[in-house]
Amino acid sequence: MQKITLLLLMSLPISYPQNTIPKSIEEEAIIALSHYPDLKDVPIIFKFKKNIRKSTMQAQPVFGSLFKSREKRKYLILISEKFKIADSVYYTKDMPSDILIGWLGHELGHIMDYRDRSSIDLIGFGLGYLFSKNFIKKAERIADTYAVAHGMEEYILKTKNFILKKSNISEKYKRRIKELYLSPEEIMILAKKREADMETDLP
Ligand SMILES: [Zn+2]
Repeated sequence: MQKITLLLLMSLPISYPQNTIPKSIEEEAIIALSHYPDLKDVPIIFKFKKNIRKSTMQAQPVFGSLFKSREKRKYLILISEKFKIADSVYYTKDMPSDILIGWLGHELGHIMDYRDRSSIDLIGFGLGYLFSKNFIKKAERIADTYAVAHGMEEYILKTKNFILKKSNISEKYKRRIKELYLSPEEIMILAKKREADMETDLP
């Protein structure tokens, strides 16, 4: 994995001038972004926040930009400075690199999804997310699916295992994760399907 990461970094057009990325997570954000060539020209602001209710990261359109044309839309990825799993507190910036890359890759999956939606739809989306568990489930699975479709399955699996395999994590939190997100098995199936599709695409 290290080697692949290094290779990726060397082959990247290093700057994403339209994006704002805090220094402490710059390397991980650039690796995650490199999996999404479609987002190359999309302005994304990565921003630390003291605390985000119920989650570690959150992707959303910048509200004011919803009133402009779709091409001028901007997006925000809020990142909680700390997160708590069961009784332990972790600092997001100290998370192992691959886990952070997987997490950011999932958030970029949400942005891919938002890009396809009209502004009205996005406002409805925000409300749905607040009030309906089924809605959350659908949205989270779409984000995971985008990440896998962009070759991030290894990172996504690591992130998921990081959350699920911590021995001190509460059963309640585990159930929530299992209920809302793709399971490791589902991710493997998607990844296999993607490989098979790529093979049939060859001349
Ligand atoms: Zn999500």
